[in-house]
Amino acid sequence: MAGVILRNLTKVFNKVVAVNNVNLEIRDSEFMVLVGPSGCGKTTALRMIAGLEEATSGEIIIGDRVVNDVSPKDRDIAMVFQNYALYPHMNVYDNMSFGLRLKRVPTNLPWPFNTRRAFSEEEIDRRVNEAAEMLGLKHLLQRKPKELSGGQRQRVALGRAIVREPKVFLMDEPLSNLDAKLRVQTRAELIKLHRRLGITTVYVTHDQVEAMTMGDRIAVMNNGVIQQCDTPLNLYNHPANLFVAGFIGSPAMNFVPATIVERNGELLVDAGSFQVTLPPEQAQKARSYVGKRCIWGIRPEDIYDKSLPGLVQPTPGNTITVDVDVVEPLGSDMEMYLKSNDISLIAMIDSASKAKVGGKLEIVFDMAKSHLFDPETEQAIY
Ligand code: ATP
Repeated sequence: MAGVILRNLTKVFNKVVAVNNVNLEIRDSEFMVLVGPSGCGKTTALRMIAGLEEATSGEIIIGDRVVNDVSPKDRDIAMVFQNYALYPHMNVYDNMSFGLRLKRVPTNLPWPFNTRRAFSEEEIDRRVNEAAEMLGLKHLLQRKPKELSGGQRQRVALGRAIVREPKVFLMDEPLSNLDAKLRVQTRAELIKLHRRLGITTVYVTHDQVEAMTMGDRIAVMNNGVIQQCDTPLNLYNHPANLFVAGFIGSPAMNFVPATIVERNGELLVDAGSFQVTLPPEQAQKARSYVGKRCIWGIRPEDIYDKSLPGLVQPTPGNTITVDVDVVEPLGSDMEMYLKSNDISLIAMIDSASKAKVGGKLEIVFDMAKSHLFDPETEQAIY
């Protein structure tokens, strides 16, 4: 097994800086997710690790060697793509074993003189059978791809990567061709597989839910730059900046432009239409912003209906009255679009709420879970 280190890694296509001085240490056996919006550079970063794209500058280290000049096939990696082309005329067994059959013992002889196979038939058979067992494909080994479901085909593509017993798995949106149900199912299978094999994995997705459920750690990218790299929980609870705060979490965090004001020794977030009081711990961190503009953030799930028993004690400092604009029932919760004059908020409210569209609702903010950002630097103040 091996860790992967990206050191000052940059890729420029013509004038587009796709990956901009990225530094990332992926630990041995870690499941690292690269997540970000379309065009943020995650695929380019992955392709550089794979050796499919040459770095403009910087280093890629796999295990203990710099691999910038090592060809893809000698990097000890296996890739699984979104478009996992299986060979249509080969059955599952042959699709999985094909790569191993082609592999030759390293030698100085060029093709076609290099004819010594790297793996014996017995070794190939062992690996294919083990992978098929692990992926629940044993009964399908003789089938052709067209006789398989989408999920089964995806598992064959995974199997093809597993039989190579690589040091590192590189996966680029491998589940995006599957329907929603199968995607959730395969996601769980991939997590189990990773636990079992413990192979260092770099997984690219634009789907933050996928990132949150799969990653040991997540590197959030935007404009070719890693915005923050941390565990899913830390990203959710302590986003480093506005971009990460808005990207992680669904529905997205509410952002309210405000000013910090001091009254009777307390700090208030003055949003114009309403004022709320910062708890002591948050107030301490916001003290240097008194009289200044800021952006206050609150997640939809940290807003409660005052009339329902909630986790947060209502006080005048955390309670406001809003108009209910839209209510979307989701089962256990309702997604509510609320308005306080010109300020719009989205809240996830327990479906026991009696709130009605067009009516008023008293809501309570969990102020200890709120966030504050500097509007200039966009960095978190707390
Ligand atoms: P997506 O989720 O849409 O695949 P991504 O985050 O993986 O996006 P990349 O594919 O890495 O993004 O692309 C990053 C930037 O580099 C984009 O602006 C893209 O247009 C550009 N880019 C990628 N490949 C090339 C190329 N071969 N030539 C020129 N520009 C490229």
